[in-house]
Parts: sequence; structure tokens; C-alpha cells
Amino acid sequence: MSIQVKEVSKFYGKQKALDALSFEISDAEVVGFLGPNGAGKSTMMKIITGFLPQSSGDVFVNGLNVMTHSLEIRKQIGYLPEHNPLYLDLYVKEYLEYVAGIYKLGKNKKKRVDEMIELTGLGLEQKKKIGALSKGYRQRVGLAQALIHDPKVLILDEPTTGLDPNQLVEVRQLIQNIGKEKTVMLSTHIMQEVEAICERVLIINKGKLVADQTSNNMHSIKESYIFDLQFTSPVSNAQFKTIAGITQVEALANNRYQISATSDVREQIFQMAVSNNLVLLEMKSQERNLESIFHELTR
Ligand code: ADP
Ligand code: MG
Repeated sequence: MSIQVKEVSKFYGKQKALDALSFEISDAEVVGFLGPNGAGKSTMMKIITGFLPQSSGDVFVNGLNVMTHSLEIRKQIGYLPEHNPLYLDLYVKEYLEYVAGIYKLGKNKKKRVDEMIELTGLGLEQKKKIGALSKGYRQRVGLAQALIHDPKVLILDEPTTGLDPNQLVEVRQLIQNIGKEKTVMLSTHIMQEVEAICERVLIINKGKLVADQTSNNMHSIKESYIFDLQFTSPVSNAQFKTIAGITQVEALANNRYQISATSDVREQIFQMAVSNNLVLLEMKSQERNLESIFHELTR
């Protein structure tokens, strides 16, 4: 088990940012850490990487307690913080050599730096100042610094935020390649990103875990059915609630309703309409994707 998070809570003053969060990530898994802004993603990642202490609970990385073994754990973790802080006045290669020095890579230093430049496609940019690079290339520098000490575990906090569509594809591809050999946990609020590169998704909202699913299993989670209905006249909540399995009714304009249900209740809806003398104009089942599940779980 690469990462174990047990009942972790974090308070900033009186504000609870993480609420007894628990999950585990296995070796070489690529996991998307999803949640709306303010959900607690960055806080959780800072705690896993040992940059911020939790208020309660335990975190283990490769079996070591983060609180008591923070230095050893930093050697085993590569971390790309949110907003990717870099020294804009340093040259790309110079910066990577500096980072390699921090990790005491010794005589391997030059070789590792060259390997990282190659891996992240920074060859043509290596002699430029970081401040002169585009956002996409800065992200590559961030990834190169996170990988330079060959960590087993990579924690990437919104690695693709702010990239243009081409850069996005390239950086995602890079992460996918890296993920073949390493444990990767990446935070994002972009659903397509999870669908594109993650085997599994953890969704948090307000500091709590609301889903833990393999990404092609997401559709099987509760409230898996959504129907769009239109009647000729209004239908009351009570009328809908006579049908077992309907968990939510959202009334829209023009006697339209969106229904969430735990099973396929189309026949029951039709029967309910008949027995209440309601005219059903339209009934459509909605294709569920990660996006709609995300909205439902975090609204
Ligand atoms: P996310 O990365 O999912 O957007 P964060 O972990 O950054 O969420 O933030 C979670 C909550 O904790 C937010 O409400 C945020 O305002 C609050 N928070 C984060 N960092 C601090 C801090 N240093 N001091 C006070 N509150 C903070
Ligand atoms: Mg964040």
C-alpha cells in the first residue's frame, strides 16, 4: 500500500477543511482526486507530502508515518504543488541541477538532470530562463523537479490547470507515461481529465469523501438513473414519491421534471401518470457520465 490516510481531519482555526477523511492508494495506481474548489484537495496533498500537519488522524506513505518520518518520506515522494512555484530567474537546467543538489544525487546529478529534460521534452528550452517559458513548459519543469529523485509516489496538485488545449494533451500524456511505473495521485476539478488518465477516482466535497470508484465503475454508484420528463400539467412531489426508487425530483419550467432514481422506474412513471390522469409528453433517460455524477455528489 503506497498511501494510507486514516480518519484525517484538519482545522484552519475554527474552519474544518478535512473531516475524518480515509482512503488508501495501492502501488502503481493512478488516482484522480476530484472536488470543487475549497473541497480540501490541496490541504490533503500538503499533509500527505509532510508540508502541513494534520489536526488528527494518521497518514502513512510506503508504511512510514508522515508525522514522524517526514524527511524519509520526502525522498520517496515527488510533489508538484498547486500554482507550481518556481524560481523564474534561474535557467531550466540550472534549476533542475539545484533541485538535484537538494536531494543529494551526487555523481548521478548531471545524468538525472539530462534524463528529466529528455523525459519532459524540455530539450529546446533547457538554456532558457524559467520566467521566459510558457505555462505548459513551466509545468514540465515542475514535473521534472518532482521526478528528479525517482520517487515511487507522485502527488500532483492540479497539474494541468491553466494549460492550453495542446499543452493539456501533452502534459496528460506525460503523466500517463509516468503512471505506468509510479503511484500517482493528481488533483483536478476537470472530469475529462480523470476519464482520460485515471484508473480510479476519489471525490471529496467539504472535506469528506463522497465517492471512491474505478472510473469505469462510476455509473454503478447509487442514484444511477436520471430521467427527463415533461407533462401537460404540474405533478406534485407527493405524486412522484409514490414510486419506490425515486430519490430526487427537480421541477423545471413548462411542467418539466428531472428525476433521480435508484432503478429504472420508467414503467412506474407511466403507470403513475395514467392513474393520476396526467399526460406524459416526453420521457428521456439521461446518459450518465462522470461529470453528472460529480455534480450530483458535490451539489
Ligand atoms: P482545494 O484544493 O480543494 O480547492 P483547499 O485544501 O485549498 O481546497 O482548501 C480547503 C478549505 O480550507 C478552503 O475553505 C480554504 O479556504 C481553507 N484553507 C486552505 N488553506 C488555508 C489556510 N492556510 N488558512 C486558512 N484556511 C485555509
Ligand atoms: Mg487546491
